[in-house]
Amino acid sequence: MDTVFNPILEVRNLNKSYKDFSLQNVSFSLPEGCITGFIGANGAGKTTTINTILGLAGMDSGSVRFFGMDICRQEQEIKNRIGVVMDGNYFYENLTLTHMKNVIAPAYSHWCEDDFQKHLAAFSLNPKQVIRTLSKGMRAKYALALALSHKAELLIMDEPTGGLDPLVRSQVLDTLADYMNSGGKGVFFSTHITSDLDKIADVLVLIDHGSILFEEEKDILLDSHRMVKGSARWLTEKARPLFSSITETDFGFTGLTGQPDQVRALMPDAVMERPLIEDIMRDAIGKNTPAAKRCKTAAVTGPHDTF
Ligand code: ATP
Repeated sequence: MDTVFNPILEVRNLNKSYKDFSLQNVSFSLPEGCITGFIGANGAGKTTTINTILGLAGMDSGSVRFFGMDICRQEQEIKNRIGVVMDGNYFYENLTLTHMKNVIAPAYSHWCEDDFQKHLAAFSLNPKQVIRTLSKGMRAKYALALALSHKAELLIMDEPTGGLDPLVRSQVLDTLADYMNSGGKGVFFSTHITSDLDKIADVLVLIDHGSILFEEEKDILLDSHRMVKGSARWLTEKARPLFSSITETDFGFTGLTGQPDQVRALMPDAVMERPLIEDIMRDAIGKNTPAAKRCKTAAVTGPHDTF
């Protein structure tokens, strides 16, 4: 019997246009029990997607369902069940951490003061400190403490680790892992720091120019690809098509392949390593440029058909 797959967030054919940018049929879904990394270059559409799925920016068309409920119809119930950390965190700057919490807490039906105090202590935050005097890292930790204190089942975060030093980043990542281990159903967060995702993500969603390029389990994606290094002499006519991208220098080449066994058969002495998320991301974005897409069309249709 097939397993019934109930996503905790399902985004279907989301469209949203600004004057010079649009999200185009953005679709993805978050399986329960996963940390999902939302990646893409500057300006790719990550914040716009997050704002739109949370109802902070209106959509032109599409559907967004959290826990099976429509964000347009059951926004309040959904917001009770999710914790949100946005880039920039909008707080009243002259309030203390406690006073700001007193403003936010009544909005949630399951606010847990014990959890809030526990997170403040774990992050070494002083409840009497005034918000405008917080450093960037303290501010990020405060936002996370708030998001984790109302029994949220899903955390949605826009760049929670951006601009943080490695120690604070690692503390934030540990907190996310603890959250999942203690019953959290999912985490969805955007980031540029793909090394954070190498550590904790289960699923990756890549957006580029407002379109989703892939949505894949991280381990499947990384295990099925290899970064290959070797002599440029080995790049025969038969070998080249096995690579999705190749960088050649005077000393040799580095290339990404999704067909490692075939490459190994042709180049037994090549160095083959598991790629980083960054390698896969760069490759996918490189293939999504207008020039690369034109080349691909020309290769598929033949040079004469393109004119
Ligand atoms: P970054 O990683 O730099 O934060 P991002 O992937 O989050 O980038 P967005 O902030 O979603 O990207 O921006 C995507 C595009 O949408 C950009 O070209 C931006 O200028 C445009 N954009 C965002 N908000 C608005 C707005 N309110 N009005 C017009 N254009 C906007």
